[in-house]
Amino acid sequence: MDKKLAVGNWKMNLLREEARELSGAIVNLLGEDYEDCQVVLVPPYTALDVVGSCISGSNIELGAQNVFGRTMGAFTGEVSAPMLVDAGCRWVIVGHSERRHILGETDEQIREKVSLSVSCGLKTILCVGETEAQREEAVSRSEDALARKSLLFSPIRTQIESALGPLDEKQVSDIVIAYEPVWAIGTGKNATSLEIEEIHQYITELLAEMFPGSGNNVRILYGGSVKTGNIEKIMSVEEVDGVLVGGASLSVDSFFRIIKSVGG
Ligand code: PEP
Repeated sequence: MDKKLAVGNWKMNLLREEARELSGAIVNLLGEDYEDCQVVLVPPYTALDVVGSCISGSNIELGAQNVFGRTMGAFTGEVSAPMLVDAGCRWVIVGHSERRHILGETDEQIREKVSLSVSCGLKTILCVGETEAQREEAVSRSEDALARKSLLFSPIRTQIESALGPLDEKQVSDIVIAYEPVWAIGTGKNATSLEIEEIHQYITELLAEMFPGSGNNVRILYGGSVKTGNIEKIMSVEEVDGVLVGGASLSVDSFFRIIKSVGG
């Protein structure tokens, strides 16, 4: 299994100078040789170059928050996977819940994005997770364990089967899954250790079923209001291979402490 991962998703925040300061401070605090876990910084497109320069020579890698599902052409405003590679990205996030739920991205679009990203050599973080209503519906069937599980797992199964269906065993080794319950993103609400464990175990089983040769090697991150106060508890869940961090990755101090906890 590859190293654990600490991914900082800066979302639509930070001007270039601010991005330079934050990434420079992270490199300084960690040191260029830091390798206890793989750190990935995911700034907005406009700051990819400055962050890329700041982390150059260190073990920190660069990622993008989105990609379009075609390689080139008349798609005004979009950015393709080869363009991300050209801009120095090794990673891309696909299917983040803000893109699914605020920007209306569909499973079909996400499938195209994943396939193209992987074929261009990008390590691809596929975000999946249930909404609050989906979890509540499942919980309302608590007296029937099978019905509860089937309702709870169904959105995750659909998202993963749809996005990874076209991939082969070799391509899936470039995939990382981020389990991000939609109700926990940017809300301060956390999934409990048991809730995280249950879904991560399910994803592990599903990947093994879909990709018997390599599914076991796919890392599974947790994301959703990860903070310095809960990172130890989250990382103590055996099935958690790292974290995708939004808000808390915008502060040097908190992201540094999170990285150190992930690195162990
Ligand atoms: C995210 O951006 O994927 C995320 C989980 O955000 P936050 O940590 O702010 O909840």
